[in-house]
Amino acid sequence: MKIKEAREKIIEISLKMLRDELTNGTAGNISIYDREENLVAISPTGVPYHILKPEDISVVDLDGNLIEGKNPSSELDMHLMFYRKRKDVNAVIHGHTKYSTAVACLRRTLPAIDYMIALTGDKEVRCAEYASYGTKELAENCFNTMKNSRACLLANHGITTVGENIEIAYNVLSQVEYISNLYLLSSAVGEPIVLEDKEIFNMIERFKDYGKKIK
Ligand code: 13P
Ligand code: ZN
Repeated sequence: MKIKEAREKIIEISLKMLRDELTNGTAGNISIYDREENLVAISPTGVPYHILKPEDISVVDLDGNLIEGKNPSSELDMHLMFYRKRKDVNAVIHGHTKYSTAVACLRRTLPAIDYMIALTGDKEVRCAEYASYGTKELAENCFNTMKNSRACLLANHGITTVGENIEIAYNVLSQVEYISNLYLLSSAVGEPIVLEDKEIFNMIERFKDYGKKIK
């Protein structure tokens, strides 16, 4: 996706994320990588989403140098790490969600209690160790814990998802939030049954086409 289009898309997805209650206030951040131009569009730090204009969206290179727009998100390192190290990632979303962050406050791994967890490309969503927001340490914890998955919980903070495009990253965010809600509800009554690894790996195979159809 070209940078101009990416700047507009970031505003659209930011407002959707607020509407869908996948973040709140100025928390969370979104970026899109334009691989052809080797530039990243990312939401600026601390600006309320509803007043964002396309020219406010920060454009940076892979070293984090600001090319255009306002000061980039404090989580820039976390976003850039994925673009530098994973060829399959072209979009990153970090949200302060309600249910998945609750799981992250328990510092638990979200298990496969619903087959849709396979959209993450893994059989579970692990929780990265706590580090202060906006630090290299948090970026590393998140990247290393996520491994080749599309989602990772951040202890006592939130969640980060990635995707081949922004729609996939958003869909993963929304599904992990839904499964976290199911997990907390079912755990309040009993012990939810976790699907077998074999079943989830089969779903991951089946979702390879399914995910690609989201444009
Ligand atoms: P920014 O406003 O700097 O993007 O920070 C929000 C946030 O969620 C930090 O973790
Ligand atoms: Zn945050």
